[in-house]
Amino acid sequence: MPPLTTIGFDADDTLWENETNYHAAKRRFAALLSPAQPEERALAVLDEIEVRNVEVYGYGIKSYSLSMLEAAARLATGPLEPALLDSLLAIARDMLRTPVELIDGVVDVLQQLTPRYRLILLTKGDLFEQQSKIRRSGIADRFAFIRVLHAKTPEVYREVLHDAGAPAEQFVMVGNSLRSDVLPALAIGARAIFVPHPLTWSHEHVQPETMPGSGWIEIASIAKLPAAIQALEDE
Ligand SMILES: [Mg+2]
Repeated sequence: MPPLTTIGFDADDTLWENETNYHAAKRRFAALLSPAQPEERALAVLDEIEVRNVEVYGYGIKSYSLSMLEAAARLATGPLEPALLDSLLAIARDMLRTPVELIDGVVDVLQQLTPRYRLILLTKGDLFEQQSKIRRSGIADRFAFIRVLHAKTPEVYREVLHDAGAPAEQFVMVGNSLRSDVLPALAIGARAIFVPHPLTWSHEHVQPETMPGSGWIEIASIAKLPAAIQALEDE
């Protein structure tokens, strides 16, 4: 395989925490609806509505907020009280203001890789929210090219690599989602490094037996990235 020249990074749950924000919000949602609704049922209804609504509203906290309102309306035994609506909207506002918490080892790894590779940032989601997090992350200047994408399909990766001037065979994508970061990169002839996050959303899970046998490596933490890139280049 040709040497790698460009490394693509996913952002949410790869460079910084994201799912922890949603988990905390879901616990608050369930607490607001208890004791009338058991936590398990409240979370199951919310999850089902959330997955369906992604198709309609896209990703992000504003989309999630509409799902919380819809789930509350479905779970409520009477009309939705103004105080409950206020509390649900407060959850959304707090989520949008949560500080960006970098994952351990990220700053070090970017520092190590910068001299040898071109680093690019490819994140999927709501444009306003992602741009705000990129700005607040403090690491935006490490990336030669940044894109907020509406989807992470093979076609989108092909377009982005074209715009970034990076041939697919010299590109490796790093991320916490097999579905969004690993599979579409492999589909266009690029390589991938999978860094699972303990809280990856169920919507992103892929059956392991359907994964290709080569071209990608799984690592336990982002700190192992330089060694994994070396291993892919030696394959
Ligand atoms: Mg991610």
